[in-house]
Amino acid sequence: MTETLWIIYLAVVGAALGSFMNVCLYRWPAGESVIRPRSRCPGCGKGIAWYDNVPVLSWVLLRGRCRSCGEGISWQYPLVELAVAAIWLGMALWQGPGLEAVRGAILLTLLFGIAIIDGRHRIIPDQFSLGGTAAGLALAAWPGGFPFVSALMGAAVGYGLMWLVKLGGEALFRKPALGIGDIHMMAMIGAFVGLGGALLTIFLGSLLGIVIGVPAAWLQGKLEARGTYLPLGTFLAMGAAVAYVWGPPIIDWYLGYALPT
Ligand SMILES: [Zn+2]
Repeated sequence: MTETLWIIYLAVVGAALGSFMNVCLYRWPAGESVIRPRSRCPGCGKGIAWYDNVPVLSWVLLRGRCRSCGEGISWQYPLVELAVAAIWLGMALWQGPGLEAVRGAILLTLLFGIAIIDGRHRIIPDQFSLGGTAAGLALAAWPGGFPFVSALMGAAVGYGLMWLVKLGGEALFRKPALGIGDIHMMAMIGAFVGLGGALLTIFLGSLLGIVIGVPAAWLQGKLEARGTYLPLGTFLAMGAAVAYVWGPPIIDWYLGYALPT
């Protein structure tokens, strides 16, 4: 019973955070505050009542239309709410009651937000990356959870390595190689997954960027266009999700392979 309540509780928290995530994804690229003003319809400008702002349910009940003017409301709103609710539900099921379910859900929620906003706008908000670094370190400082020293090492090495890649890339290619957002993001990831997880994330993120990103950009004819670059944050987010969920067995396997005993 306690476990069932825990699962329902985290799913509801996830849906509410998904609703807030929509506001962040919509307003941060426009440079607007996420606190004020409260949500309003982009069609008629009328404020949205709390009962029309219930995650997923309101959109379904209103059939994706504003109550006042009937303007269509994008299906992306309920989809983001569902996705974040699914992250929290999944973590509750996987980790059971306790801090680790919350820690994992916070990480995956941050990664989800960064993956979308970097893919669309090529920005990684510091609220996610630096705020996430602080959250990761604070959660590791909690006794009995992820070791604090690992979190600190992961954040420092993730941050430092990305700076080296940036400086090395600029020296070699004489053009900007990495954004500051990617560097801040790796500090956040390291704070959640530790040193081994951070290295695995950089490896997987670069691999995904090459395997998926380069052909996709080439197909769209974007590689020739000056000033366009791949959404590395989106690929690092995917790599970090894999590193969090499957990192320990992958790292054990690799160490056993590289250093046979
Ligand atoms: Zn309206």
